[in-house]
Amino acid sequence: MKTKLCLLFGGKSAEHEVSLQTAKAVIKALDLTKFEIDPVFITKEGEWRKGPSLSSPVEDVKQLQFGEQAEVSPAEGLTHVPSAPGATYDIVFPLLHGPNGEDGTVQGLLEVLNVPYVGNGVLASSAGMDKVIMKNLFRDAGLPQVNYTSFIRSAWEQDREAAYVKTEEEIGYPCFIKPANLGSSVGISKCTNRKELEAGFEEAFLFDRKIVIEQGVKAREIELGVIGNDFPEVSVPGEIVAKKDFYDYKSKYVDGDSVMIIPAELPEGMAEELQQMAKTAFQTVDCSGLVRADFFVTDKNEIFINEINTMPGFTPYSMFPLLWENTGVPYAELIEKLVQFGIERYEDKQ
Ligand code: ADP
Ligand code: MG
Ligand code: MG
Repeated sequence: MKTKLCLLFGGKSAEHEVSLQTAKAVIKALDLTKFEIDPVFITKEGEWRKGPSLSSPVEDVKQLQFGEQAEVSPAEGLTHVPSAPGATYDIVFPLLHGPNGEDGTVQGLLEVLNVPYVGNGVLASSAGMDKVIMKNLFRDAGLPQVNYTSFIRSAWEQDREAAYVKTEEEIGYPCFIKPANLGSSVGISKCTNRKELEAGFEEAFLFDRKIVIEQGVKAREIELGVIGNDFPEVSVPGEIVAKKDFYDYKSKYVDGDSVMIIPAELPEGMAEELQQMAKTAFQTVDCSGLVRADFFVTDKNEIFINEINTMPGFTPYSMFPLLWENTGVPYAELIEKLVQFGIERYEDKQ
């Protein structure tokens, strides 16, 4: 019997277009003798639209003409086969990034509907999306990190000067200011003086009521993929070489002028050390399914964990699938493994 797989893609986030690219690639890669795919498209306005069931691959998700379809409510769109009458799916794959997709909200909806899904659960998704919570968890686990502090908007509004002074005393320059709950480098500034610091606070608070400020390091950026549930496996490390000052939104998605080196060239023993840390990060945040763990490595070979991403970029040209390809797991097989991990986690909970 074929696995009925619902692909949930698009979404309200800034990464809407990236999600379309991912959906297209996943549909092309899946073996249609094993899977029956039902695409559910979430518009930029947040409307859910069901497309026709796919019996053959499509070249472009846009040709599916979701616009013609009636809008459905999320609950109608996503009902699990065994438990509910009139239901449709064995598993849902939320191919969504950022707020509303990667942050535990869609995952919570799927939990309430009792539908198995691919990837991280509610807790790991939301903890991984909030950079302050994530860093506090890493700190408790003893993972090395750069110094950081955080502010909420109302505290800053009450006494801006105090916030700047505290940041200068505790973190100093250069520093990075980031909205707590975003990805794709949106709202992030590098600051080297008071003027930039003030502008950086203003900018980051446009996107979130909470921000994190970190000590800036000059470092290589090394990333590893982790997959599995209770017994996670870790990929080889890869390096991102950004041509810009830092790996900002434009170099991630617009210019594409960053280079990936897989496997990364690292000093003796460091790959194993990073793999151990990536696994610790995965388990610390109680992840399941998949995570990309991102590190900084300085020229003195100091390692700092930067972040984990609970739904990393997932086109065939993204770091995460390429890391796995270089570890012996090609794209189609990776997707099948993730589906299997999702079903196993669901069954494990019953
Ligand atoms: P996002 O979740 O948006 O990817 P990151 O925390 O990974 O946010 O920051 C985006 C990029 O900014 C990083 O890939 C890196 O290039 C740069 N960066 C972030 N924090 C630091 C830091 N503390 N020191 C140096 N560079 C940083
Ligand atoms: Mg991120
Ligand atoms: Mg990042």
